[in-house]
Amino acid sequence: MSRPTTLRSAGDLIAAGLIDAADAAAIQQVAARYAVAVTPAVAGLMDAADPDDPIARQYLPSPAELTSTAGERNDPIGDAAHSPVKGVVHRYPDRVLLTPVLACPVYCRFCFRRARVGQGESALSEAEIEAALGYVSARPELREVIVTGGDPLMLGAPRIAALLARLSAIPHLEVARFHSRIPVADPDRITEAMAAALRPPPGAALAVWLAVHVNHPRELSAPARAAIARLADAGLPLVSQTVLLKGVNDSVGVLEDLMRALVRNRIRPYYLHHPDLAPGTGHFRPTVAEGRHLMRQLRGRLSGLAQPTYVLDIPGGLGKVPVGPDYWDGDGVTDSRGRRHPYRG
Ligand SMILES: *Cc1c(COP(=O)(O)O)cnc(C)c1O
Ligand code: SF4
Repeated sequence: MSRPTTLRSAGDLIAAGLIDAADAAAIQQVAARYAVAVTPAVAGLMDAADPDDPIARQYLPSPAELTSTAGERNDPIGDAAHSPVKGVVHRYPDRVLLTPVLACPVYCRFCFRRARVGQGESALSEAEIEAALGYVSARPELREVIVTGGDPLMLGAPRIAALLARLSAIPHLEVARFHSRIPVADPDRITEAMAAALRPPPGAALAVWLAVHVNHPRELSAPARAAIARLADAGLPLVSQTVLLKGVNDSVGVLEDLMRALVRNRIRPYYLHHPDLAPGTGHFRPTVAEGRHLMRQLRGRLSGLAQPTYVLDIPGGLGKVPVGPDYWDGDGVTDSRGRRHPYRG
């Protein structure tokens, strides 16, 4: 029997029974515009009997993606305007993004970089990596390199070890942070060799952190939990990022279960992202008021350790900012049950 493979086309998804043959033409149109990939691990989490399944909704292409809504754009957070050299985005004084690869194991239907990821642009060449690292080396004000993409763990253990060796040799760098969906989307790639590659070289001053992209508690399957344990046991501090998505996790119960499960698995909740204005993703975006209402309820239910910060990346590249809720307004403070108490700061 052959090993199950990643599903990459309307035909694959129909053959696997995940989409209706009647939708083939529309899905082919979507797939021509935005990359499609569903790993066996993720397909196995879907409940085909549930038309509103929150796992399927994140990964199966939908005709709704052909509709663009007001304000949507190919580069919602202004990467291009802040890219001094290929593969580097420099928006904040002390840190840069490095995007060595624009491929992912799965393609999320709400992806903020969907106009670029999985579009055939391959990994940076050696010379391009050289130029990107040259940019970082030449700027002593930089303290952190955030390795993202695409999914940087697609590089594989040997290239990650080589990249970290290069980053550790830059004396002003203090932190390398990787952002990845692989622990939940393709957990078998998190081998012991991968965990070992993510540890900084012996004697290096560089701290390596990993941010795991997780949106629903069911994504923390047994293989995903084992992958996360391999990373935590290797000594990596783990944080999470979650995108707030309509029909996936826009309920307080789901968010509460997710945040609790993250902490139980040694992942500190970091960001809850308001979805960016990526093209064809309007059906995923709640309002900021809805997001704030959910955050307020979480405050009353969860340990401080389990609270993410709700952030919006301001369109055009102006950076991420927390969007509340606010508890203090100058002369009063609101408790988690919504009661006001006078307090002048
Ligand atoms: C999101 C982002 C970062 C990281 O922001 P943090 O708030 O430090 O997590 C850094 N640079 C760019 C360009 C970003 O888009
Ligand atoms: S893993 Fe991240 S970069 Fe890749 S498709 Fe999903 S959201 Fe986009």
